[in-house]
Amino acid sequence: MKLPIFLVLAGLMPAVALPATDAPPPQWRAGAARTVITPTEPMYLAGFASRVVIAEGTAMDLQAKALALEDDRGTRFVMVTLDLVEVANQTRDAVAAQVQAKFGLPNEALLLNCSHTHCGPELRFTEEEFSELKDPQRRERCLRYNAGLVEKITGIVGESLQRLEPVTLVYGHARCGFAMNRRLKNEKPSGEPFLNSPNPDGVVDHDVPVLSVTRADKSLAAVVFGYACHNTTMSIKEWHGDYAGHAQRIIEEAHPGTVALFMMGCGGDQNGYPRFGDLFSQRHGQSLATAVEAALQAKARPLSGPLKTAWDTVRLDYQPPPTEEELQKRLATPQGSDPSYSIYRRDWDRRRLLALQKGSLRDHYDYPIQVVHFGNDLTFIGLSGETCVDYSLRLKRELAGSTPLWVAGYCNDVLAYIPSKRVLQEGGYEAGTSIVYWSNPLHPNFFDPSLEERIMGRAVGMARQP
Ligand SMILES: [Zn+2]
Repeated sequence: MKLPIFLVLAGLMPAVALPATDAPPPQWRAGAARTVITPTEPMYLAGFASRVVIAEGTAMDLQAKALALEDDRGTRFVMVTLDLVEVANQTRDAVAAQVQAKFGLPNEALLLNCSHTHCGPELRFTEEEFSELKDPQRRERCLRYNAGLVEKITGIVGESLQRLEPVTLVYGHARCGFAMNRRLKNEKPSGEPFLNSPNPDGVVDHDVPVLSVTRADKSLAAVVFGYACHNTTMSIKEWHGDYAGHAQRIIEEAHPGTVALFMMGCGGDQNGYPRFGDLFSQRHGQSLATAVEAALQAKARPLSGPLKTAWDTVRLDYQPPPTEEELQKRLATPQGSDPSYSIYRRDWDRRRLLALQKGSLRDHYDYPIQVVHFGNDLTFIGLSGETCVDYSLRLKRELAGSTPLWVAGYCNDVLAYIPSKRVLQEGGYEAGTSIVYWSNPLHPNFFDPSLEERIMGRAVGMARQP
């Protein structure tokens, strides 16, 4: 009779090195993969309207990472994190179609999240976005980058699924304090009602949720961690992952062989302070990485299945847009005659008028919400857009007392800032003045205040119905 190898070795090695023969069968399998998505052609930097330049080089490579999870019933979920300013619905739709066709992965089992680094490439998709460009090469490079990105994301989703191996999943969380609310009430009678300035008394969500993936040999295969804060500590003219890039790098250096994935939270109205510069970016990255290490040591919650993924859209309405006559009247005024009518507002009116005349001005937006249940041990809610922090705070309040909750923003379709009703009524950048810059999609007006109840109602309903 041939003895199993571990019985042969049992007489030679100390008992602690033996595999536990009474261990339960592995409930989970996981696989991780990564690829570099730094542009290989000259491309413009994204994010800051005041910095319209081609990147001068690479200070830190941008990466796409995938983590595939599978429970013991074969249900799968793949999360992809991107060192990019946004996830466009065009990118997600194209990846979702490919991974469905190639790997049979259903739409609701695919999550895309972006770190919102402003040191990544501009992402343009529509002819309207291209029409304003004078350099035809810029359009071609954007299109080539988009196509390459879809191929690369599809590739790492496939690799992560091929690498599935038995693991244990553990959830923990810690806190990290560098995010500060960035909406400061303007005490002056003129200008925006709220300024983009640090507000130490404003609402924050300092939670650092952490999902760790450990192999049978106890090595850390992957760690996913979240934080609700704009990833905009840097405004250099080179490619860079900013504080989230530093945090991922620091965790991976501390745990060789690990893939660290940053999941952006509801940081629409949060900035890391101090800013700007690589020194602060490194410090914030180190702070976040330290919080992740703390979460790995804190009271851990092993996750059981079953895995359940859900996807739904909720209708968001807009405030009534101006009429064709109103738009034409405003556009007929001499440029510069009204200081409150900026060139950006004028351009928004021009684009809205064109859409109105073509009959293509949208009247609502179908807003995606994704929910993933890990049995009764963890509920993950993925919200779309630049979601303000009121959403994660309210979801944690309304769903308190049951399953631990992880709320991510910047998932799947970064269509606009998503203000809460409070932020919308207060006014300012996140409330709607940012919406004038958006052309993918072009919004007809600010959102109707009903958006918070609609998003909350659907997200809570999905979270409560595993
Ligand atoms: Zn932003």
